[in-house]
Parts: sequence; C-alpha cells; structure tokens
Amino acid sequence: MAKTTVKKTLGILTSGGDAQGMNAAVRAAVRWALVQNCEVYAIYEGYQGMVDNIIKPLRWESVSSIMQSGGTVIGTARCREFRERPGRLRAAENLLKYGIDNLIVIGGDGSLTGADIFAREWPELLAELLAKKKISALKVKRHPQLRIVGMVGSIDNDMADTDMTLGADSALHRITEAIDALSSTAHSHQRIFIVEVMGRNCGYLAAMSAIATGASYVFIPESPPPDGWRENLYRELRAARSAGRRDSIIIVAEGARDRHGRTITSAEVKEVLDRHMGLESRVTILGHVQRGGEPSAFDRYLGTVSGVEAVRELLRPDGGESKIVVTRNNRIETVSLCESVAKTHAIAEAIRAGEFDRAMRLRGSGWEIMNSVLGTLSRPAAPAKKTRKKPKTIALITCGWPAPGMNNALRTAVRLGLAQGYRMLGIRQGAEGLIYDRVREFAWMDVEEWVACGGSKLEANRTLPEPEDFPAVAAAIRKHKIDGLLMIGGWSAYRLAAMIDEMDREYPDLDLPVVCVPASINNNLPGSELAIGADTALNTIVQAVDKIKNSADTSRRAFLVEVMGRYCGYLAAMSGLATGAEYIYLHEQGIDLKLLQRQLKELTRSFRRDGRNIALLIRNEHANTAYTTDFIAQLFTEEAGGLFDVRKTILGPMQQGGTPTPFDRIQGTRLAYDGMLQLFGKLAEHDNTSAFIGFRGSKTSIFPMRDLAGMVSCEYQRPVNQWWESLLSMVTALAIRPR
Ligand code: ADP
Repeated sequence: MAKTTVKKTLGILTSGGDAQGMNAAVRAAVRWALVQNCEVYAIYEGYQGMVDNIIKPLRWESVSSIMQSGGTVIGTARCREFRERPGRLRAAENLLKYGIDNLIVIGGDGSLTGADIFAREWPELLAELLAKKKISALKVKRHPQLRIVGMVGSIDNDMADTDMTLGADSALHRITEAIDALSSTAHSHQRIFIVEVMGRNCGYLAAMSAIATGASYVFIPESPPPDGWRENLYRELRAARSAGRRDSIIIVAEGARDRHGRTITSAEVKEVLDRHMGLESRVTILGHVQRGGEPSAFDRYLGTVSGVEAVRELLRPDGGESKIVVTRNNRIETVSLCESVAKTHAIAEAIRAGEFDRAMRLRGSGWEIMNSVLGTLSRPAAPAKKTRKKPKTIALITCGWPAPGMNNALRTAVRLGLAQGYRMLGIRQGAEGLIYDRVREFAWMDVEEWVACGGSKLEANRTLPEPEDFPAVAAAIRKHKIDGLLMIGGWSAYRLAAMIDEMDREYPDLDLPVVCVPASINNNLPGSELAIGADTALNTIVQAVDKIKNSADTSRRAFLVEVMGRYCGYLAAMSGLATGAEYIYLHEQGIDLKLLQRQLKELTRSFRRDGRNIALLIRNEHANTAYTTDFIAQLFTEEAGGLFDVRKTILGPMQQGGTPTPFDRIQGTRLAYDGMLQLFGKLAEHDNTSAFIGFRGSKTSIFPMRDLAGMVSCEYQRPVNQWWESLLSMVTALAIRPR
C-alpha cells in the first residue's frame, strides 16, 4: 500500500437518521486513513458537533469492536443551525481549528445535500471569516477547498445512483422478521394484517418486503393504485380468501398516496377493510424497530468497502468535486455528490407532481420489473386470459445441497409459468425424480406458503444419473410431455443440465431447453456473482461469530472459525470482512509455514503491545490439506507460549439451514424470473439450447451451456474469475494495526 506523502487531516461524521452499517463504515474509513498516514477526527453528533466544536482525534483502538453494534458510535443528530449560513460559518471556523479540509459524511439525502452546500460555500465562508479576522490569510491559503466524500446511510434506500444504501438491508431483515412473525398468527386466525413500513418517497422497503414475505397487497409512493383501489382491494382479498389464502398481509409505505397525491395511511386501509369486509384487520406500525437490531452481514460488508473507498477517493490527487460512494452492479464506485442529490430530488419531485411513470423510470428498470413481478405473485389465482388451449409444460427441479431462498425461486417460477398459461410440474429429489418418476403438477395455491421456508420443497438431491439411467430420464420427460426444464441449484444442477445437453443426440426426448439458476451457499457458480443462499449462510456465520466473540472472558484468546465453501473462499472472505477478522485462510490464496510464522509474530506483538485480548481467524474448510484447522490451532497455541490460546469452532451444516434472509428470497424471485423469461423465449422460438444465468449486481446475463467449461475450474468447482478476490487485502489491513 502506497502511503501519502502530504499528511492529510480528515473529519468524519454520521448525520441524520441512524442506519445500520454506519459503524462498519466509520471503522473502515478511520483505519484506512490511519494506515495512509492521515490524521483523523471524529465530529460527534453530526453537524451539531461541527457547529458546537465537539471534535476529537481518533486512534486505531477508538474504533475497535464497533462493527457489530447498531446505530453509530460517534452519534448523530439533526441540526437546525447548519441549515443556515451562520451555522455553517461556525462549522467552517471549527474545522479550521483542527486543519480539517477533508470530510467524510455518512448520512441520508438531507445530510448529503447539506454537505454539498457546505463544500460549495467554503471559499465564501473562509473569505467572511478572514474579513471578520477570525482566521488568518495563511489559513485561507492552506485550505482553499473543502473536499467531501459522502456515504449514503439511509434505511429507505432512497438515493439515486446507488443500488443499496447503508442500513436498507438490515431494515429489511427487521421488517421480514416482524412480518414472518405476524404471518403465523394471521394464518392461525385467518386475519388480515396491515403493516406500515418506513419510506417517505421511496417504496423500496415496502416493495421488497412484500416480495420477501409473499404479501397480498402493497402501497408504495412511486406506483399509486388506480382509482377505485378500495373496491379492488376488497375484491382481491375476498377472492384470495375463497381461493384458500388464510392470512393476508398488506404493506403500506409511510409515503404511500393515491394517484391524486392524497396520502393513503394504514388506518385508512383498515377502515376500508373493516367497513367493506366486516373482517377484523389489525394494524402494525413498525416504526423505529426498523432501525434497530444488529447490522446484517451485507451492511457490515457495504460499510467496510465503502469506508475504504471514501478514503481512497479523498486521497486521489486529481479529485476536486465532492463525491459519494455508491454500489452499482455489485461494484463500489464514486459519483458526483451534487448530481446524485439532484437526481434524488427529481424523483421526489416527480412523485409530488404525480408523474409516477417518470419516478419509476428514474428509479431504474430493475425496480419496474420487480414491481410488476410482485403484481403477479401476489394474485390469488392465475389471470384467466392467459389460459392456452394446448399448454406447454415446464418442469422445475432442485439439485445439489438445498440453498435458502430456493423455495421462493420455485414459488416465483410456478406462478409466473401459470400466469403465462404453462403447465407447471415439479420433479422431486433432483435427478432421482426423473429416473424414478417422482413428478407432481402445481396449482397456483400449492406454493402460497413457500416464501419463508428454508431447504427445498422439491427435496434437492445431489445424485447424478449414470449412463444407464438415461432411458428412464428420457421416458419421464416423454411421459410428462415436458417441453422445458428450469434447474435451480449448485454444481449438480449445472452438471445435470450439461449431461442432458450432451445426451440429446442419443435420446431425442432430451432435446429440450434447460436453464440453470444459481443456488448455492458456497457462491461458487460460473458467471454469477451472487447465488441464491449465500447471503443466508453469510448471516449465519456472522451471527455465530458475534456469539463466539461475546463468549470471550478477559483471557487472551484467538478464535479460529472454520466455514463452508468447498474450494471457494467466498464465505470465508466475506465473513472475514463483515466480522473484522484478523486473518482469513482460503484455498485460492493458499497457506504455507512462512505465512503462519509471520501471522504468529504479528499476533504475538499485537496481543503484547496493543492490549488486544481477542483475535478472530476464519478458515475455509478446504483451504489446505496439511494446514488444517486443528493444526493451526495447535501450532498457534503452542508457539504463543501462554500469551494467548486458540479456540476452534467448526460451524458445519448450520450454514446451510435456516430461514432465508430477505436478500435470498428476493434473489430467488429475481433469478427465477430471469430464468423463466429465458425459457419462455426459448419455447416460443423453438430454441432447444441450454443455458445458465449469471447475476451481476442488478443485471442478469445468460450464458450458453457450452461456455461452462471455460468459465470454471472443474478440479476445484469454482469460477475462474471471482470478483471478490480484489477485496481480500482489506481484511488484515483493517484489523491489525501497522507498526
Ligand atoms: P437524512 O440525512 O437522514 O436525510 P435530514 O434530512 O434530517 O436527515 O438531514 C440531517 C441534517 O443534515 C439536518 O439536520 C441538517 O443539519 C443537515 N441538512 C439537511 N438538509 C440540509 C440543507 N438543505 N442545507 C444544509 N443542511 C442540511
């Protein structure tokens, strides 16, 4: 890492509504800046601390053990004085007392708007301070510009130009947990629950939680219901009840409105239902619960990589304009702060002006698609007009280990297929279901309650057919008149698809399109950056590590945690970033004795010098055959000579189980939608080639099956190029104080 020659002084603050992941961002930015030889100050309580001069230097240890905490350890506030020029004048004067002319602001749209104004006003503010003799001419000369880099902390995910803001994923966790809990009681009593979630100008939390919980109806600001929504709602809920839906969840974003700009409140929805339906409905306003709890693995990761990028941006010699750090298509970038603020305001303005199509367009195409998919999934029955005379048949199959989120992918595929007039079949127990004819037909309501279930309702299986099994496979496909196959799973799914593709010359029944959808907690599938299931596994690891760390007493201890992934280090690397591990061991990087010796020396020094009493080491299960988890634990304990001991934990199959996270449920819907779209196209065009779907950020690509071999290492069952490997250098750099 090249260190900067001119020592920079930077201030960091969190402002506006608190958001999960702010602490991870503060930790990463502070430590990365210290490594780069910067002087770093915390400005406490947001802009209030800037106006009131609550500014203190930060050291490496100041940000220890903060990642797992919710909220922000440096405090946040809303500050009226900063909205006015005199307040900003005082703020500028205070910053100059410490020589701060680089600022990292972590906050929402309001805080970043304030930052933008402040940066543009800076020269004038300094001129005024000089005229009032509050600062010297030399100060003005030394600090001609205030450079600002923002990170968007907002649970609403309401900032233009970024796919996700800090805190939105954790808020979705809270909402999903609450609705899952409500669903069971609603189900038992056949009740309707109306749940109000945050989002003044942005329906992200409402729409995504509706997808993640299988809600019946959702009201969001960007897409108001058509006139007559009261009658529609009543009719749809009645139809759903007749179709067998026991519980109905209606989600209302706090900024929901009708086409004429009139607010739709949860109380109003309740009144409509109670009056028209004569059914009991209950309102739950989730409120500040959505900000609480623990930060999700994603928010810890996003905070960490954004914090590093913010410092990198500040240190770029050519930088001038204020920027914000954003995540687009799964990559961290910086974009113009004022342009993003302007776009964000334009969306809010479009909603206010009733230009809803424009608001949706400005949010991006991914948004529009998910909103329309939601419209189909929440229906109580397939739309009648699509019924075909001779429907084609699509069969669904899950192969490999079960991955959390698979069931929502199945649910989505079944309903989208039925809505388009296809006959939808499910093949149980993977390839065995084809060999032994374990096939079922789906009706719309069969998948109603699958959203939140872990595992695979089609019982995923890793068995692959032997050559002698293919006549039976071909016979099953012929018997059930299967025209296309959607395979959801890991390596076994891809291999089965490739086998079917190869065998179609011998068995003409196998000449049909197969589309693979990536689902594996290991996230080791080609062309796809985020497979269904990996986020749940990551959260399980992060929560387990939190508990393990909390179990520490005052004795000096290193925890060595072994995680899954086969030969793919994704889970180890990402959990290392999200938990602040000191070291990670991956097969991709290898382990040798020299490395272990260096780490032992570093750890010993750190335990002795820094007063450290805990360290965290994460090892992928197949990182190295010789340097096993046992070996490393014993070696370090022995060589530490009593300074610290090592406790090892093998997390095991718990990483595969559990309730899918909101992201994995959403990912299940998104990828199943893309997979089905491909199949619809292939069936319409009589294209019998097979393919697999790759997912990058918010975009999906399709790869022909023949590309598979060139994109993977077959020996280690992982992609040749893995996007996350470029992040590995951050792990230790942020965890061990340099000498
Ligand atoms: P958020 O950043 O979460 O959107 P707010 O909109 O409340 O939260 O903004 C937080 C703080 O940012 C405000 O209390 C104020 O100090 C500052 N701020 C917001 N908007 C402006 C503005 N237009 N000009 C100057 N400061 C602003």
